[in-house]
Amino acid sequence: MVIERLKEKKKRVFLRVDFNVKFKGDKILDDFRIKTAKRTIDYLSKYNHKIILATHLGNPKRRISKLSTKKLIPFLEKILKKRINFVDDCIGEKVKEKIKRLNFGGILLLENLRFYKEEKKNSEDFAKKLKELADYYVSEAFSVCHRKHSSVYALPKIMKNYYGFRLKDEIKVLSKVLNSCKKPIILVLGGAKISTKVPLIEFWKKRSSAILLGGVLAIVFLKVKGFNVGRFLVDKEFLLSARKLQSKIILPIDFYAISKNKKIYLTLSDLLKQNNSSFKILDIGEKTLDFYQKILKVGEIIVWNGPMGLIEDKRFSFGSIEMAKIIKKLNKFSVVGGGETLSIFSSKSIEKNSKIFYSTGGGAMLEFLTSKKLPGLKVLGL
Ligand code: ADP
Ligand code: MG
Repeated sequence: MVIERLKEKKKRVFLRVDFNVKFKGDKILDDFRIKTAKRTIDYLSKYNHKIILATHLGNPKRRISKLSTKKLIPFLEKILKKRINFVDDCIGEKVKEKIKRLNFGGILLLENLRFYKEEKKNSEDFAKKLKELADYYVSEAFSVCHRKHSSVYALPKIMKNYYGFRLKDEIKVLSKVLNSCKKPIILVLGGAKISTKVPLIEFWKKRSSAILLGGVLAIVFLKVKGFNVGRFLVDKEFLLSARKLQSKIILPIDFYAISKNKKIYLTLSDLLKQNNSSFKILDIGEKTLDFYQKILKVGEIIVWNGPMGLIEDKRFSFGSIEMAKIIKKLNKFSVVGGGETLSIFSSKSIEKNSKIFYSTGGGAMLEFLTSKKLPGLKVLGL
């Protein structure tokens, strides 16, 4: 049930969020997920609940101070405009004591859930210990709902649970995409995590009008077509999947690459020559962008996940930045998701009202869009 259905006041609420943000030095690179959780936090605070805020941060194997959630405090205080109390544990007497002393309407941030290896093992014992902290469970962590982890699955299973406003929006918008198979829908897929994108292509091959590729994903498909893609290594398994999935796939026609430390421009016909393989493809070119723009114009719905090139290098972020401009200008009903993909958009454009929905989910969004049932949603009755 959505959080508005929780009519009581002054309860202890365990709020699972996904504040697994990236840091550069002591700055946060992406505060989008924190901002999107604000509405639910404000709501709980307004009804004078004690908010027990829980997240994971990174992927620690053990307790390491570098990945303590304590680091988040100044950013949370700034974005949420509320004081954040902290306890350096997730379970046990010390945490309970802190909760007892917490003001109604106040926030207590727990230590990194993944400091306990039980979290990723979906341990029921760990869940039981977390349960002792609160009266209700609320999820505002859409982006981890594809993971069967203790705080995402085992815990809400044994507690009266609710979901937050943002999670509700995610489901609403992504369901609309899933249910719009009859409309011209165009997918733009790129990036490097090939294994997470192959099922999406499989699912949408028959349901979409076209799938435009960029990034490493495009290189895989070019390779199976026999083009010389230079220095490129990929699992045989992906080449086999790509071979089966070729229809509806639209591939780039020009590229930027690096060769002997220099940026070079290549067209598809250059990739027919098999004599030189000393280059590495790192971005798409202008002709591809023109071509893709023309196709996108006829679509009614656009889904974009995965950068068109190596965005971390300024010389090769062009294709992705231009793709973002094209999608913004078209202003059709679009869904954009993925950690790196969102980083291409400025936070200003993300906050601006438009027909573009920026999903907080990377992997979760991809799995949802293949009609898979996500464990963390199923347990919330979604
Ligand atoms: P997202 O997080 O948006 O889902 P992925 O995690 O799948 O996207 O992939 C993002 C990464 O893909 C970026 O770090 C980007 O540099 C990389 N990438 C895209 N195209 C290329 C390329 N041609 N060569 C190397 N890396 C690439
Ligand atoms: Mg990524």
